[in-house]
Amino acid sequence: GGVLTTGGVLTDTHCPYCALQCGMSLRPAQGAPGGLDVVERTAFPVNRGALCGKGRTAPEVLAHGVRLTTPLVRDPGPGGERGELRPASWEEALDRVAGGLARARGAYGPDAVGVFGGGGLTNEKAYALGKFTRLVLGSSQIDYNGRFCMSSAAAAGTKAFGVDRGLPFPLADIPRTGCVILVGSNLAETMPPALRYFTELKENGGTLIVVDPRRTRTAEQADLHLAPRPGTDLALALGLLHLVVAEGRVDEAFIAERTSGWAEARAAAMAHWPELVERVTGVPVPQLRQAVRMFCEPEAAMVLTARGPEQQSKGTDTVGAWINLCLATGRAGRPLSGYGCLTGQGNGQGGREHGQKADQLPGYRMLADAAAREHVARVWGVEPGVLPGPGRSAYELLDALGRDTPDGVRALLLLASNPVVSAPRAAHVEERMRALDFLAVCDVVLSESARLADVVLPVTQWAEETGTLTNLEGRVLLRRKAVEPPAGCRSDLEVLNLLAARLGWEKGFPTDPEEVFEELRRASAGGKADYSGITYRRIVEEDGVFWPCPETRAPAPEELNDDPSNDHAPAPHPGTPRLFLDRFATPDGRARFAPVSHRPSAEEPDEEYPLLLTTGRVLAQYQSGAQTRRVARLNEAAPGPFVQLHPRLAERLGAAEGDRLAVTSRRGRAVAPARITRDIRPDTVFMPFHWPGEGRANSLTNPALDPTSRMPEFKVCAVRVELAGD
Ligand code: SF4
Repeated sequence: GGVLTTGGVLTDTHCPYCALQCGMSLRPAQGAPGGLDVVERTAFPVNRGALCGKGRTAPEVLAHGVRLTTPLVRDPGPGGERGELRPASWEEALDRVAGGLARARGAYGPDAVGVFGGGGLTNEKAYALGKFTRLVLGSSQIDYNGRFCMSSAAAAGTKAFGVDRGLPFPLADIPRTGCVILVGSNLAETMPPALRYFTELKENGGTLIVVDPRRTRTAEQADLHLAPRPGTDLALALGLLHLVVAEGRVDEAFIAERTSGWAEARAAAMAHWPELVERVTGVPVPQLRQAVRMFCEPEAAMVLTARGPEQQSKGTDTVGAWINLCLATGRAGRPLSGYGCLTGQGNGQGGREHGQKADQLPGYRMLADAAAREHVARVWGVEPGVLPGPGRSAYELLDALGRDTPDGVRALLLLASNPVVSAPRAAHVEERMRALDFLAVCDVVLSESARLADVVLPVTQWAEETGTLTNLEGRVLLRRKAVEPPAGCRSDLEVLNLLAARLGWEKGFPTDPEEVFEELRRASAGGKADYSGITYRRIVEEDGVFWPCPETRAPAPEELNDDPSNDHAPAPHPGTPRLFLDRFATPDGRARFAPVSHRPSAEEPDEEYPLLLTTGRVLAQYQSGAQTRRVARLNEAAPGPFVQLHPRLAERLGAAEGDRLAVTSRRGRAVAPARITRDIRPDTVFMPFHWPGEGRANSLTNPALDPTSRMPEFKVCAVRVELAGD
């Protein structure tokens, strides 16, 4: 009871999909898909009731015909080959999972067991998963699909500001700034309700610059659209910074007072002459000049990035270059100004704070940091020496699956992720997954990855369970249970507890989300992402609480006098909607410039592969499509993959609208119908990545990794395009 139910028939909660985490209410309704009607929740400030089609149809996945409601196990066939998956009891399935993980651990050591999580898991689950891997399995081998999402922005933000929170200000600040440069985000399709912030910005006299190789629905809204060649966003940012210097628009006072490293960053930018940048990016110099004017003239301005510049083998440096532009012009750490990253997945932010990332412990602490290990070990009741060190990044972990080498990962537990569709060089990843000694998957449907499993565990999902998520603003939210799960499903938290018991962990794992959250609060206390002052009750009463939120705020000076009548109890901390206004979170309080230079993508076009491929999402589908491809209304709107290309390229290929095109890269081939439009550069083709099979875009993508963030280069690789015939 209490804050966990709204009382009456309406349950206030949040959408299961993207990082905007739109508020909605759910009402039981006989005959409605999933038994629930979605009701507008206008009081929630982020989306004020607005939802996209994905959110409106989300209950359909709850009671869908393809919903898994019984565990599945695979027996060997008569000749020892892989048999079919068959229904099994929970007892049998859990015994098999524990057995499969323990066997690999016994034969090859704890690091032969891997865990792969997801940015859609609640904070409680992400926390429990990290703890389970490191304590119960004793393995360092955990990472998650969020590595493929925002890791470059996280790395660049941490380098520059000392902490990474997607947006260091609330979305509500956007309409009040003077100019926004939106780099590589198609939010009009990926998170449509967010578009209103930019519409209001324009209504208030502000301007919007969109950087994207395609004229997307978002770019259509822009006052200025810059369409660089994929993989050249870094050069573009440097060219703009060059012009900022050349035109005398640098904020010297801000640089002197609040930053370090300007001399090196300035020197690097000055080597990027506008004419050179035009040649590299294809963006004409007059457009560069116009962008600089629009960005520098108002009092305040912002740069927001998304996957376009981030999913590159130089993603960290690319984001660093955009941050440099903010710092050089005094547009960071000031009201209505700053750099922010638009995180993609539902819990993209919280998912990276609580320990399912290879190098992290809860509270955004680093696993390699002795004090961090000590704090978390104390909360977990173990010696710090018990905690393994950092593990491999997501792609490196997937690449190590089933390898017959001393560091091979022989058994994997996979949750909330579908790498067969969403990982780069997907056919290779699929092959590695097939080579595993043992694969267990927790999911709500039989995803393409679950089909490869030895055991599939049917788990509960968003409206069937309670838990917190942290949206792209760093606002911690409560998603609440609105219906009973189907008989036969169990929560991921329960699964971890039952597995832990079978693997000899005697202390138990809490299965009540609020109890897990209470432990997470203690584990995060004093860390960068400090949740210790946040409670379920506060989240509900305050429409979310922004981290960092320590348990109490520092006393004000007047509270520190020694007047005995002045017995102020420590006041609760209000949370932190805006970061960096007084100081950055670096040791010296200064933001750090990144001395970065342009470099080519890992794969540039050549005679054999003369075109560039870039990938992304469409309005009616979400990520690997495991959920949205099952929703009839969404499938009608976006039934399958396509290859978007310019008419000039289509003419050269002799292709007409709808013709099947084969796109080939050094890693594989994908076939999908042509969609011809002037909204894309003639040297580039685009494919959405939501589908498996023949049209799987990630068959083509390049796993070249960013050296810092270990982000694969999803956004640019070299391809050849031909008519596929029938
Ligand atoms: Fe859900 Fe994102 Fe759509 Fe909002 S924008 S309804 S959070 S998918």
